[in-house]
Amino acid sequence: MKVKVAFPTGFCFGVRRALKALEEALAAHGEVYSLGSPIHNERVVEEMVSKGLRLVEDPEEVPPGGVSFVRAHGVSAATMEALKVRSSLVVDGTCPFVRRVQMKAKELASEGYAVVVVGDPTHPEVVGIVGHVPGDKVFVVASRGEIKVDLFKSFGKIGVVCQTTNRVEAFKEVVSELVGLVEEVKVHNTICDATAARQEAVRRLAAEVDAVVVVGSRSSANTRKLLEIASSLGEALLVEDVSDLERGWFRGKREIGVAAGASTPDCLIEKVVEELEGIEV
Ligand code: SF4
Repeated sequence: MKVKVAFPTGFCFGVRRALKALEEALAAHGEVYSLGSPIHNERVVEEMVSKGLRLVEDPEEVPPGGVSFVRAHGVSAATMEALKVRSSLVVDGTCPFVRRVQMKAKELASEGYAVVVVGDPTHPEVVGIVGHVPGDKVFVVASRGEIKVDLFKSFGKIGVVCQTTNRVEAFKEVVSELVGLVEEVKVHNTICDATAARQEAVRRLAAEVDAVVVVGSRSSANTRKLLEIASSLGEALLVEDVSDLERGWFRGKREIGVAAGASTPDCLIEKVVEELEGIEV
């Protein structure tokens, strides 16, 4: 069977970089304490746990002198400090694009702007960004409906940053609303296009093949989003690994597209491609 792989697909730059640092730390130190799961893929995490990865939710759970790991989402300044006090080494996997948002938000606050972060207040990246802003004039807004009009009007100037994976439309909506409220609005577009580029790649692929196989974990939101896009354009199947490939599903199909969520390792994608190429049509 002919197979075409989406481009770009799978790990983004930040996740790839963080996992490489984590794997090197596991090889060098044996046991590494990660604050939160390093990736939304149970099978990959299980494998890392067998190599010495320990998942913790709080810096206090890192044993004194242990090696700790910060995933690509980053953490607040206070959490980073707590990890440094606790650990002999902090392996910092914060994506440089996330670090840039943290720095821009902090800079805006030091210039006297009230800071608005456009994003999901419960997302670890957003929690980390907010935790880099000194003072209490920092607000997370998911959509224009959440803008506190009277409060925001009372600020002379507002600075805006965005969660890296947010949609540009949501960012624009909030910014245009803020522009009408205060005299000065300073905007840093901090959106990273890795997510949008992967979704666009699936759209293109679905138009070129008979069906799309999406490789990734069912618990990964961005994997499910890729499946949703592919399904809206034709036939699509989500597989966690080669054991989920039902041969009967491929009957009558000549060319299959393969795409993968941002938490799917290359080796898993390669195995699925190899298996598909071996199916006789
Ligand atoms: S999506 Fe972008 S900002 Fe987020 S980890 Fe990947 S490269 Fe970094």
